[in-house]
Amino acid sequence: MTSSARPLLNRRLAEFGTTIFAEMSALAQRTGSINLGQGFPDTDGPEAVREAAVRALRDGRGNQYPPGPGVPELRTAIAEHQQRFYGLAFDPDTEVLVTAGATEAIAASLLALLEPGDEVIALEPYYDSYAACIAMAGATRVPVTLRPSEGPRGGFVLDLDELRAAVTPRTRLILLNTPHNPTGTVLTRAELAAVAELACERDLLVITDEVYEHLVFDGAEHIPLASCPGMRERTVTIGSAGKTFSFTGWKVGWVTAAPELVAAVRSAKQFLTYVASGPFQYAVAEALRLPDSHFDGFRAEHQAKRDLLSAGLAAAGFEVFRPAGTYFVTTDIRPLGESDGFAFCRALPERAGVVAIPNAVFYDHREEGAPFVRFAFCKQTAVLEEAVTRLKALAG
Ligand code: PMP
Ligand code: GLN
Repeated sequence: MTSSARPLLNRRLAEFGTTIFAEMSALAQRTGSINLGQGFPDTDGPEAVREAAVRALRDGRGNQYPPGPGVPELRTAIAEHQQRFYGLAFDPDTEVLVTAGATEAIAASLLALLEPGDEVIALEPYYDSYAACIAMAGATRVPVTLRPSEGPRGGFVLDLDELRAAVTPRTRLILLNTPHNPTGTVLTRAELAAVAELACERDLLVITDEVYEHLVFDGAEHIPLASCPGMRERTVTIGSAGKTFSFTGWKVGWVTAAPELVAAVRSAKQFLTYVASGPFQYAVAEALRLPDSHFDGFRAEHQAKRDLLSAGLAAAGFEVFRPAGTYFVTTDIRPLGESDGFAFCRALPERAGVVAIPNAVFYDHREEGAPFVRFAFCKQTAVLEEAVTRLKALAG
């Protein structure tokens, strides 16, 4: 051990302890609770896709370092996916980059595109790695808070005036996430158009995390920001096979963007992992070509799970913000006579045998997020039913 008083951990990371996901999954294991905290499915994705990974492994495809940008089969499949679902054309050789999950795509993009002192606008509550990566890049995060809507739309909404007011001469980029974790908000075409207009007017880059692109409910559609006027050249779009195909352990993600942006992100990425997930890249290439029925079924299945958990949470006394997308439902615990989400989530395994995530960890303005608690519904129906039964006992 060093004897100096200097902390071992770099000061940029000092405020970031263990991620809440690791903490809460460990708590679930320790207490034998149902884990509705960390967002991962409790059943694997399509059998054919698993078999494709086995085949790649057996055939010796991807067992040695794949090419830095990703295997050509996968880059082509990603480009085809963007064309098929959104009518967006990307050159697989210069405009697509495969990463070690969306997590590395986020890190590499921020490290590549930011200078110390730059400001980054992120929607609050924000996914936890955003804050850590902005800090590692030496930049400053500027949160714009999504708030519960008073209007008929329900859920959490973005205040476009606040977004506009958050831009300063130091703003380098906006870090967007739609569908949004943890609130389940899906930005509308009008909201995205306003973001696009602002980005163009103030000459900002946008990184848009769209890992839940195939989890949009009630017939709504996911609109990639890159499809908005003026955005094709200034947007870095991030996707992930973890969410779309229920293989979160494979860590296959990707970036699509203009060649200069991809080149910049690749410069950072090559010194993070260089490459990852060789055989899985081939399997994901096949997954991306699954018929529409896969994507429709996946969406319908999660919509039903959302409905089940939302209704159960409401019956258990929570105020439920109906999510328009993602794996997650955010609740307000105040109707239960509680106001501190942290304390509530720490006690919940003991009280009900269920684990959830306190949304406050995703806020700079912790008080804004204090009463909100997130539950994941990407679990088997019987598991969700059991969780609901246990949570209903809370009120009684
Ligand atoms: N972005 C968001 C919004 C997420 O919820 C997650 C978690 N899946 C990630 C990125 C990270 O994705 P991956 O597991 O592909 O690294
Ligand atoms: N994205 C998942 C969630 O929000 C967790 C991913 C992780 O553990 N880093 O729950």
